[in-house]
Amino acid sequence: MRVMWAPWRMAYIKKTRKPRGCIFCAKARERRDASNFLLHRGRHGFVLLNLFPYNSGHLMVAPYAHVKSLEALSDEAALDLIGLTNASLRVLRAEIKPQGFNVGINLGRVSGAGIEGHVHIHIVPRWNGDTNFMPLFAETRVIPEHLRTTYRRLRARFQQADARRRRDHSRSSVTIHRHASRRTSDVRS
Ligand SMILES: [Zn+2]
Repeated sequence: MRVMWAPWRMAYIKKTRKPRGCIFCAKARERRDASNFLLHRGRHGFVLLNLFPYNSGHLMVAPYAHVKSLEALSDEAALDLIGLTNASLRVLRAEIKPQGFNVGINLGRVSGAGIEGHVHIHIVPRWNGDTNFMPLFAETRVIPEHLRTTYRRLRARFQQADARRRRDHSRSSVTIHRHASRRTSDVRS
Protein backbone atom coordinates (compact mmCIF):
# COMPACT_ATOMS: atom_id res chain seq x y z
CA MET A 1 0.00 0.00 0.00
CA ARG A 2 1.35 3.42 -0.96
CA VAL A 3 1.45 5.90 1.89
CA MET A 4 0.16 9.38 1.19
CA TRP A 5 -0.61 12.37 3.34
CA ALA A 6 -3.90 11.60 5.08
CA PRO A 7 -3.83 13.04 8.62
CA TRP A 8 -7.53 12.39 9.33
CA ARG A 9 -7.02 8.73 8.62
CA MET A 10 -3.92 8.50 10.80
CA ALA A 11 -5.83 10.07 13.69
CA TYR A 12 -8.56 7.52 13.23
CA ILE A 13 -6.15 4.59 13.13
CA LYS A 14 -4.33 5.79 16.26
CA LYS A 15 -7.55 6.21 18.18
CA THR A 16 -9.06 2.88 17.28
CA ARG A 17 -6.02 0.64 17.25
CA LYS A 18 -7.63 -1.61 19.82
CA PRO A 19 -11.34 -1.55 19.09
CA ARG A 20 -13.36 -3.20 21.80
CA GLY A 21 -16.53 -4.92 20.68
CA CYS A 22 -18.70 -3.81 17.81
CA ILE A 23 -17.98 -0.34 16.34
CA PHE A 24 -21.60 0.12 15.21
CA CYS A 25 -22.92 -0.56 18.72
CA ALA A 26 -20.21 1.64 20.26
CA LYS A 27 -20.96 4.60 17.98
CA ALA A 28 -24.70 4.30 18.50
CA ARG A 29 -24.25 4.11 22.28
CA GLU A 30 -21.78 6.98 22.57
CA ARG A 31 -23.17 10.48 22.30
CA ARG A 32 -20.22 11.82 20.29
CA ASP A 33 -21.81 11.88 16.86
CA ALA A 34 -19.48 14.47 15.31
CA SER A 35 -16.28 12.72 16.34
CA ASN A 36 -17.81 9.37 15.39
CA PHE A 37 -18.89 10.74 11.97
CA LEU A 38 -22.43 9.67 12.79
CA LEU A 39 -24.67 11.69 10.45
CA HIS A 40 -28.22 10.93 11.44
CA ARG A 41 -30.18 8.95 14.03
CA GLY A 42 -33.52 7.39 13.11
CA ARG A 43 -35.99 5.37 15.17
CA HIS A 44 -34.47 1.93 14.52
CA GLY A 45 -31.15 2.76 12.91
CA PHE A 46 -28.57 5.38 12.04
CA VAL A 47 -26.39 6.67 9.20
CA LEU A 48 -22.65 7.12 9.38
CA LEU A 49 -19.80 8.07 7.11
CA ASN A 50 -17.50 5.22 6.14
CA LEU A 51 -13.99 6.10 7.31
CA PHE A 52 -12.48 3.79 4.70
CA PRO A 53 -14.55 4.92 1.72
CA TYR A 54 -14.56 3.39 -1.75
CA ASN A 55 -15.61 6.78 -3.03
CA SER A 56 -16.39 10.25 -1.69
CA GLY A 57 -19.62 10.24 0.35
CA HIS A 58 -19.59 6.48 1.05
CA LEU A 59 -22.24 6.04 3.79
CA MET A 60 -23.42 3.13 5.90
CA VAL A 61 -26.88 2.57 7.35
CA ALA A 62 -27.08 0.24 10.36
CA PRO A 63 -29.81 -0.82 12.78
CA TYR A 64 -29.35 -0.19 16.53
CA ALA A 65 -29.91 -3.91 17.01
CA HIS A 66 -26.71 -5.97 16.90
CA VAL A 67 -27.85 -8.61 14.42
CA LYS A 68 -25.93 -10.47 11.73
CA SER A 69 -28.53 -10.38 9.00
CA LEU A 70 -31.60 -8.54 7.76
CA GLU A 71 -34.00 -11.38 8.47
CA ALA A 72 -33.32 -11.03 12.20
CA LEU A 73 -34.89 -7.55 12.18
CA SER A 74 -38.53 -6.78 12.88
CA ASP A 75 -40.52 -5.61 9.83
CA GLU A 76 -40.67 -2.16 11.34
CA ALA A 77 -36.88 -1.97 11.79
CA ALA A 78 -36.24 -3.33 8.29
CA LEU A 79 -38.58 -0.72 6.82
CA ASP A 80 -36.86 2.00 8.82
CA LEU A 81 -33.49 0.98 7.30
CA ILE A 82 -34.96 1.50 3.82
CA GLY A 83 -36.30 4.89 4.95
CA LEU A 84 -32.82 5.84 6.22
CA THR A 85 -31.30 4.61 2.95
CA ASN A 86 -33.71 6.79 0.98
CA ALA A 87 -32.96 9.79 3.19
CA SER A 88 -29.23 9.19 2.57
CA LEU A 89 -29.72 8.96 -1.19
CA ARG A 90 -31.63 12.27 -1.16
CA VAL A 91 -28.94 13.98 0.90
CA LEU A 92 -26.12 12.68 -1.32
CA ARG A 93 -27.95 13.60 -4.54
CA ALA A 94 -28.54 17.14 -3.27
CA GLU A 95 -25.08 17.72 -1.83
CA ILE A 96 -22.53 15.88 -3.96
CA LYS A 97 -24.58 15.14 -7.10
CA PRO A 98 -23.41 11.65 -8.02
CA GLN A 99 -24.48 10.12 -11.34
CA GLY A 100 -25.38 6.82 -9.74
CA PHE A 101 -25.00 4.65 -6.64
CA ASN A 102 -24.03 1.20 -5.51
CA VAL A 103 -26.31 0.22 -2.65
CA GLY A 104 -25.68 -3.14 -1.06
CA ILE A 105 -25.18 -5.44 1.87
CA ASN A 106 -22.45 -8.00 2.44
CA LEU A 107 -23.65 -10.87 4.59
CA GLY A 108 -20.93 -13.09 6.03
CA ARG A 109 -17.15 -12.83 5.77
CA VAL A 110 -17.10 -14.82 2.52
CA SER A 111 -19.12 -12.05 0.82
CA GLY A 112 -16.61 -9.42 1.87
CA ALA A 113 -18.29 -8.12 5.03
CA GLY A 114 -15.71 -6.21 7.07
CA ILE A 115 -17.82 -6.31 10.22
CA GLU A 116 -19.97 -9.40 9.92
CA GLY A 117 -21.62 -9.31 13.35
CA HIS A 118 -23.68 -6.18 12.70
CA VAL A 119 -25.59 -5.91 9.43
CA HIS A 120 -25.21 -2.62 7.51
CA ILE A 121 -26.14 -1.21 4.11
CA HIS A 122 -23.39 0.42 2.04
CA ILE A 123 -24.26 3.43 -0.10
CA VAL A 124 -21.48 4.31 -2.53
CA PRO A 125 -21.95 7.34 -4.80
CA ARG A 126 -20.68 6.81 -8.36
CA TRP A 127 -19.53 9.12 -11.12
CA ASN A 128 -18.73 8.41 -14.74
CA GLY A 129 -15.14 7.26 -14.99
CA ASP A 130 -14.57 6.83 -11.26
CA THR A 131 -13.67 3.18 -11.81
CA ASN A 132 -10.37 4.50 -13.15
CA PHE A 133 -9.68 5.91 -9.73
CA MET A 134 -11.18 3.29 -7.49
CA PRO A 135 -8.29 0.80 -7.66
CA LEU A 136 -6.05 3.73 -6.77
CA PHE A 137 -8.20 4.55 -3.73
CA ALA A 138 -8.17 0.93 -2.69
CA GLU A 139 -4.41 0.91 -2.82
CA THR A 140 -3.65 4.26 -1.27
CA ARG A 141 -6.75 4.79 0.85
CA VAL A 142 -6.73 8.47 -0.06
CA ILE A 143 -10.01 10.12 -0.94
CA PRO A 144 -10.57 13.35 -2.88
CA GLU A 145 -12.17 15.30 -0.06
CA HIS A 146 -11.39 15.65 3.58
CA LEU A 147 -13.75 13.43 5.58
CA ARG A 148 -14.50 16.15 8.11
CA THR A 149 -15.70 18.52 5.37
CA THR A 150 -17.89 15.81 3.82
CA TYR A 151 -19.32 15.09 7.25
CA ARG A 152 -20.19 18.76 7.89
CA ARG A 153 -21.84 19.18 4.49
CA LEU A 154 -23.91 16.00 4.71
CA ARG A 155 -24.82 16.55 8.37
CA ALA A 156 -26.21 20.00 7.48
CA ARG A 157 -28.35 18.39 4.75
CA PHE A 158 -29.72 15.76 7.14
CA GLN A 159 -30.57 18.50 9.64
CA GLN A 160 -32.34 20.54 6.95
CA ALA A 161 -34.37 17.48 5.95
CA ASP A 162 -35.28 16.89 9.62
CA ALA A 163 -36.40 20.49 10.07
CA ARG A 164 -38.47 20.29 6.88
CA ARG A 165 -40.12 17.06 8.03
CA ARG A 166 -40.98 18.58 11.41
CA ARG A 167 -42.40 21.70 9.73
CA ASP A 168 -44.49 19.65 7.28
CA HIS A 169 -45.69 17.46 10.14
CA SER A 170 -46.83 20.40 12.27
CA ARG A 171 -48.44 22.04 9.22
CA SER A 172 -50.36 18.88 8.34
CA SER A 173 -51.54 18.42 11.94
CA VAL A 174 -52.78 22.04 11.94
CA THR A 175 -54.67 21.29 8.70
CA ILE A 176 -56.19 18.15 10.19
CA HIS A 177 -57.20 20.14 13.27
CA ARG A 178 -58.83 22.83 11.09
CA HIS A 179 -60.72 20.23 9.08
CA ALA A 180 -61.85 18.56 12.27
CA SER A 181 -63.15 21.81 13.77
CA ARG A 182 -64.85 22.75 10.50
CA ARG A 183 -66.64 19.42 10.46
CA THR A 184 -67.73 19.96 14.03
CA SER A 185 -69.15 23.42 13.22
CA ASP A 186 -70.86 22.01 10.10
CA VAL A 187 -72.60 19.49 12.28
CA ARG A 188 -73.62 22.16 14.76
CA SER A 189 -75.04 24.51 12.10
ZN1 LIG B 1 -23.14 -4.17 16.98
